[in-house]
Amino acid sequence: MSILPAAEARFAAETEVLVVGGGACGLTAALSAQDAGAVPLVLERDPAPSGSTALSSGFVPAAATRFQAAQGIADSAAGFAADIMAKAHGEADPALVDAVAGESGPALEWLADRHGLEWQVLDDFLYPGHSAHRMHAVPERSGAGLIGRLARSAGAAGVDLVCDAHVTGLFADGDGLVHGVRLQRPDGGVEDLACRALILACNGYGGDPALVRRHVPELADALYFGHRGNTGDALRWGEALGGEGADLSAAQGHGSVALPHGILITWALMMAGGIQVNGAGKRFSNEHQGYSEQAIDVLRQPGGQAWCIYDARLHELGMGFPDYRDAMAQGAVRSGADPAALAAATGLPEAALSAAIAETAANGPDRFGRDMAATLPLAPPFHAIRVTGALFHTQGGLRIDRQARVLRRGSDAPLPNLLAGGGAARGVSGRQISGYLSGNGLLTAVSLGRIAGRTAAALTAGERGRP
Ligand SMILES: Cc1cc2nc3c(=O)[nH]c(=O)nc-3n(C[C@H](O)[C@H](O)[C@H](O)COP(=O)(O)OP(=O)(O)OC[C@H]3O[C@@H](n4cnc5c(N)ncnc54)[C@H](O)[C@@H]3O)c2cc1C
Repeated sequence: MSILPAAEARFAAETEVLVVGGGACGLTAALSAQDAGAVPLVLERDPAPSGSTALSSGFVPAAATRFQAAQGIADSAAGFAADIMAKAHGEADPALVDAVAGESGPALEWLADRHGLEWQVLDDFLYPGHSAHRMHAVPERSGAGLIGRLARSAGAAGVDLVCDAHVTGLFADGDGLVHGVRLQRPDGGVEDLACRALILACNGYGGDPALVRRHVPELADALYFGHRGNTGDALRWGEALGGEGADLSAAQGHGSVALPHGILITWALMMAGGIQVNGAGKRFSNEHQGYSEQAIDVLRQPGGQAWCIYDARLHELGMGFPDYRDAMAQGAVRSGADPAALAAATGLPEAALSAAIAETAANGPDRFGRDMAATLPLAPPFHAIRVTGALFHTQGGLRIDRQARVLRRGSDAPLPNLLAGGGAARGVSGRQISGYLSGNGLLTAVSLGRIAGRTAAALTAGERGRP
């Protein structure tokens, strides 16, 4: 990934605001820039916009929305910010936390009002660390549904989206002013495009095994479940231009990906009463701490595997999620009328499995600190799915300010016209895998996307109307 001398560029065209990456962040940023009066162009390396956004569950946390109010849910941006900070062990940048929590609600309402997205709030269970129901989903309840709707909205708004356009280098001068980008087409053809402001929305470095090993060694050997094309370009470019990475050891892991099917099994099963056991049939952690850190706990078990154990009530809950239905259809779910039958169906030792299931009837905190009284005990018939731990995406990225401007190394001065959002920017999870609050990924994609689009439009506003 290179920074090329501006003098070598052969610009075929110029746009005001250029966005690299057509995931949730890039499409939101483009819509935002356009609504603020600029002319955006999105470059996406794949044949169609998808990214990690399409692979995700598509749940976007936002506070104090009218969609929450309509469902009788009380919430506030301050409460959301406090939840983010608590989960991040106080390590996240407070200004950034404040900015994204504050933008989260207005961004979703704007996407609804101006661009026709429909939001529902998931109110049947709370994700770990959230003090209010604030996960918003499009009616499909999937990341594919979300990216499809964003892409249609961008098309309807007349935003130019160029696919099969892999950005391979930036043209910049010695002061870090970006003049444009070089992109490569699938047939090897190369084009140079000029821009006035550049938004990096090309996510993190989960798709670069060497960067993962360097920054997130705990998950270096885990299954990577995110988009392969997210290979750390934003981090490399930003650093080469004089910016710096922050919180690079942070990531979203997940302790519940069906084996060998490779399907995300919703953590709702755990939050509403399920447990995880290892191959010896024994529980090994507090399943309510968070699914991100659970990836590490699961990977530490023999074979790097565990089993999600739950009952018919939770199965019904799971059937509300497209991924779970898929897992069901692919035969990932084993069942048994009682612990003995479930042990036979899974190969788990019966006595240990029975004892683990019996733990769910405890009254109060257990030896791992989970309050079993908060959920119903598991009741027959039972179900089980074999799972492993995975890396979903990296949470570290370029250090930015609350306007999404990339900051110079060791300083709070911004680079002239470089912005970053979503996985390309530093997240709000602090420095640890356990710092990830559910939804921090799409939170910064959408909130920072909107902020970055606005900032980029403001940066280029002075030049608008030039001959
Ligand atoms: C299985 C799974 C489930 C998840 N569920 C949730 C959830 O429910 N809620 C939540 O908040 N988060 C979730 N996440 C995390 C979430 O998906 C990401 O945080 C979010 O999608 C990041 O958005 P983005 O726009 O920054 O990146 P992406 O959606 O990954 O988009 C980046 C785009 O940039 C393109 N690109 C990369 N490099 C270049 C280049 N050089 N030139 C051109 N294009 C380039 C890529 O092809 C990609 O399309 C989940 C992740 C996974 C893997």
